[in-house]
Amino acid sequence: MDGSDERPQAASPEGQTDLELEAVHARIRVCTLCGLHASRTQAVPGSGPVPADVMIVGEAPGFNEDVQGLPFVGAAGRLLDTLLEQIGLSRQQVFITNILKCRPPQNRDPMPNEVESCSPYLARQLALIKPKVVLVLGRHALERLLPGQGSISRIHGSLVRRGEVAYVPLYHPAAALHNGALVADLESDFDRVKAYLDKLLAPPPPPPPPPVQKQEAEQLRLL
Ligand code: SF4
Repeated sequence: MDGSDERPQAASPEGQTDLELEAVHARIRVCTLCGLHASRTQAVPGSGPVPADVMIVGEAPGFNEDVQGLPFVGAAGRLLDTLLEQIGLSRQQVFITNILKCRPPQNRDPMPNEVESCSPYLARQLALIKPKVVLVLGRHALERLLPGQGSISRIHGSLVRRGEVAYVPLYHPAAALHNGALVADLESDFDRVKAYLDKLLAPPPPPPPPPVQKQEAEQLRLL
């Protein structure tokens, strides 16, 4: 012993949140709650800063994500990066995840029981990351996060408030890769996202100056 204090330092609230999120992600990586664990290469919990003002929720990992263990790293991810750049955001500023953390075989649609099994992980991520704005990519994420809101083709680009959080449903970038006509919709919707963020994330106005006391005002008048 050299006399130095080797006791672990108390974690800051943010450090504590980091640890809690990492614990959630560790559980995801070994999760066997639904059948997708059997066919995955690895689970893809999500990535980004904690807390984060902006969170992006897609559908499920695809081929590249399953191999690399990271969200949105294929062609759809590159399109997402371009759209984020368009509004002055980088990937390092947003937390990105999916409603399913494991890849469905052949990228088939998520099944209801899989979404049910996986949803507590997403709920915990939302609680820890505390986003002010959630970008909801595609119809499956829309059904999970904003049930009863109708089709993505009707609601995309709108702002939907739920409590303290504002949600913006958007077409999934992978859908735009299959149907090029949706790219223009995504680009104009991201312009709307920029306007929402400018308003929702603007710093609060400075407090008004304290009222001048009557006596002070009188003294000023006599000067
Ligand atoms: S998809 Fe979700 S619930 Fe299913 S095994 Fe993966 S982490 Fe678990």
